[in-house]
Amino acid sequence: MNTNIVVAIDGYSSCGKSTIAKAIAKELHFIYVDSGAMYRAVALYFLRNNIDLSNEKQVAEALKNIHLNFNSRDYETHITLNDEEVSEEIRQMPVSEKVSTVAAIHAVRVEMVKQQQRMGKSKNIVMDGRDIGTAVFPDAQVKFFMTADPKIRAERRHKELLPKNPEITLEEVFENLAHRDYQDTTRKESPLVRADDAIILDNTDLTQKEQLLFALSRIEPFLNQ
Ligand code: C5P
Repeated sequence: MNTNIVVAIDGYSSCGKSTIAKAIAKELHFIYVDSGAMYRAVALYFLRNNIDLSNEKQVAEALKNIHLNFNSRDYETHITLNDEEVSEEIRQMPVSEKVSTVAAIHAVRVEMVKQQQRMGKSKNIVMDGRDIGTAVFPDAQVKFFMTADPKIRAERRHKELLPKNPEITLEEVFENLAHRDYQDTTRKESPLVRADDAIILDNTDLTQKEQLLFALSRIEPFLNQ
């Protein structure tokens, strides 16, 4: 293989980006990177340490003390924040409510993008997020832009959260997704937007198998080049 292959998957919140990204990685033995988990871990650190988001100096100092690592023992997201496994905690509502505000901060994005680009330097990789095909890997061989009916997205995420948060309502989840989509698409820095060369994948009525087959058909031409 001459160069490494990058598959970039962007899209709205809870569209199933990570599900398909993991399935592709598993099928093709690529590395899977959940870039959203990185922003979530930063948001968790900021929350725990009461970082004042409007104080640039404090934010810059805090970023220096944040060390993120992915453990890729399987195709799930296992992320550590300063050596502590935080994969569960970053999915909870306090982080979900804060993360899009944190992700809109310039210094945060510069640091995360730098780390993400390093991960895609020499390995075949599937990365999902909001700016992967536009800002992190504008030269990715294959880009997908995922979307799905907002109600279906909220129902899927609600179902996922219920076992650990039995009191969470569908309305709360719907509101959080809508709010994050609004913040992510309207922010100044790398807003969520479809790259011109990204393939749209609306999975409202598609099974996971159908999505995977579709994605693989677009990636396969690059595999043996
Ligand atoms: O993908 P996930 O929903 O876990 O991402 C959480 C949040 O992190 C998003 O709502 C967005 O604000 C931010 N994010 C981002 N850029 C990425 C990935 C995530 O701004 N590449």
